Amino acid sequence: MHAEIIATGSELLLGEVVDTNSTFIARQLRQIGLNLFYKTIVGDNEERMIEAVKIALNRSDVIITTGGLGPTIDDVTRPAVAHAVGRELEFRSDLMDQIAARFKAYRSPMSENNRRQAYVPAGATSIENPVGTAPAFIVEQAGKIIISLPGVPREMEYLIEHAVLPYLKRTLDLRDVILIRTLHAAGLGESRIDAVIGDLETESNPTVGLSAKAGQVDIRITARAATPAEAEALNAAMEQRVRDRLGADIFGADDDTLEGTIAALVSSRHQTLASVEVGTGGLLGGRLADALGAAFRGGWVSTDLTLHDLDSTIKLAQQVRQTQASDLGLAVVLRDTPDGKGLKLLAALVTEGQPQTMERGFGGHTGLAPQWASTLALARVWKYLSAR
Ligand code: ATP
Ligand code: MG
Repeated sequence: MHAEIIATGSELLLGEVVDTNSTFIARQLRQIGLNLFYKTIVGDNEERMIEAVKIALNRSDVIITTGGLGPTIDDVTRPAVAHAVGRELEFRSDLMDQIAARFKAYRSPMSENNRRQAYVPAGATSIENPVGTAPAFIVEQAGKIIISLPGVPREMEYLIEHAVLPYLKRTLDLRDVILIRTLHAAGLGESRIDAVIGDLETESNPTVGLSAKAGQVDIRITARAATPAEAEALNAAMEQRVRDRLGADIFGADDDTLEGTIAALVSSRHQTLASVEVGTGGLLGGRLADALGAAFRGGWVSTDLTLHDLDSTIKLAQQVRQTQASDLGLAVVLRDTPDGKGLKLLAALVTEGQPQTMERGFGGHTGLAPQWASTLALARVWKYLSAR
């Protein structure tokens, strides 16, 4: 038993609007343990929508469409779904009454077009939409289910939560829960992590997957079980195995952030931190200011083009520590490599003792370099603090 999502709207294909509806629905399906195998995006074109629904009927059991339920001619979902299942559109006076009532409540005039919205594929079950005017509907056909929802995210979300999930749980007798635990590692590359826990990534319940984000790698552990407690236990056991191998590089889990973790360490010791950055456009200071609040003593963003080396980076860190009267001084420099072909990071953390330094080359997309540099430098700070 698995599901497929079809999002319609030419604006989605044109890249004007991001298809957040599918992401939302995907998360919700995961929570009720219904596997999602495909997502499709189609423009506001009836032929192609029919084609997409037919393909989905061939390969999936549950098809959820969003968008195209509006009153205008380019809203093609109603006729396309009807056509794909070989049914006529049928006028529903109860839906017409609901639509009329909504317009009356909004005190806005109803147009003749809105009558279109009272048509659904023959035999469909309508879903009342108390948060908008477009009624949604469910078509059951030869053991398959098509659920058509409006495109407006707020309406779609409301209907998923209040009508669709209860309907799916009941109809498909879904009892499993799927729980996700995400561990965050920083300072190590994805390939390095892959090498250390690659064998765990081939196991099936829980599954282990990686996703890399400029300087940080998320390790996602997903378990499926009959009860939340069982799923949690499966995840906890896998988390332990991951931590046994990578513990020293895992700074947090789920909603934790690197800067939030640093904030907790710094504030528990009543310490303060100031930073100076070159080439990262204020990103580092912004992240620290947000997370540390008053424990962040500020500092500066420099566009100084001196070709810094580790010694001058340490001097910057000493300077900011002294000027801002903080316990910790952090300097981050993102600069061109001598051959001008790449970027490299120089970082220094200065406290009372020996300065901590790091130097790394950057191989990724230039736009990600500031995020990468600030994350790696923060990872260094985190390691320093957590070792104490
Ligand atoms: P309405 O009855 O409001 O016309 P509809 O079902 O026809 O609803 P659309 O016209 O397709 O929905 O979309 C309405 C709004 O929702 C638009 O602003 C659109 O950009 C946005 N939207 C549509 N689909 C998505 C999606 N998949 N993700 C995010 N936003 C979306
Ligand atoms: Mg649309």
